[in-house]
Amino acid sequence: MTTTIIKLKELFLDILFPKFCVGCKAEGMYLCEDCVLFVLEVEFNCPVCNEAEFFGRRHKGCRAKSNPDGCISFWSYEGVAKQLVLKAKYSSLIDIPKELVDYGILSIQENKNRFSEFTEFLFDEKTVLSYVPLHEKREKKRGFDQAKTAAEHLAKRTGKEMVSLLRRDKETKSQTELNDKKERFLNTKDAFSFISGRKAEQVVLIDDVLTSGATAKECTRILKQNGAKKVWILTLTKTS
Ligand SMILES: [Zn+2]
Ligand SMILES: [Zn+2]
Repeated sequence: MTTTIIKLKELFLDILFPKFCVGCKAEGMYLCEDCVLFVLEVEFNCPVCNEAEFFGRRHKGCRAKSNPDGCISFWSYEGVAKQLVLKAKYSSLIDIPKELVDYGILSIQENKNRFSEFTEFLFDEKTVLSYVPLHEKREKKRGFDQAKTAAEHLAKRTGKEMVSLLRRDKETKSQTELNDKKERFLNTKDAFSFISGRKAEQVVLIDDVLTSGATAKECTRILKQNGAKKVWILTLTKTS
């Protein structure tokens, strides 16, 4: 399709299904420019020991093997940010993760220093974007995969390549529904596998919510077992 036809189709859909802000109900976007000011930004932590780390890097002394090398999230999983992630999931609204990525890019531009280690890794030529996939059945039921859509949109905005590297083999529960650490660990165990024939040396792995980090760690372990040397995690939101 030509760009003009796509634009017309979007305009037509906007008229049929107008978007309303989840915060104030204003028409036009799922999160308006006023309400985005109320979304809480989060501090970064070392993805291994979980202690604060200004840039989101893994501490030099924290175990590198099979663990993420860095981890950042844009917002706290509460208030309008939480409503948006849930709304996208349960109402199959594909534009929501795209809007969140656009706001995320604004956040990076406004906090260049805090995001500097992440952006340096992102824009390294060896780095590709990937995502924590849904199970195929769930993706079909919802009509889309929120993390994949976010990864594709970030790839489009940054000119980076997006590659599907992992497959979800087990229909797991959402980590946000589980309360204890052991349950979360068991929920992710053997849940993913590497798609054969793919290759990636450096990966930014995208997900919608970071809960205990168990999923991020399990996916990183698999990526590193299959040739990845460095992995950073990027999530739209993070539970506190
Ligand atoms: Zn609003
Ligand atoms: Zn650490």
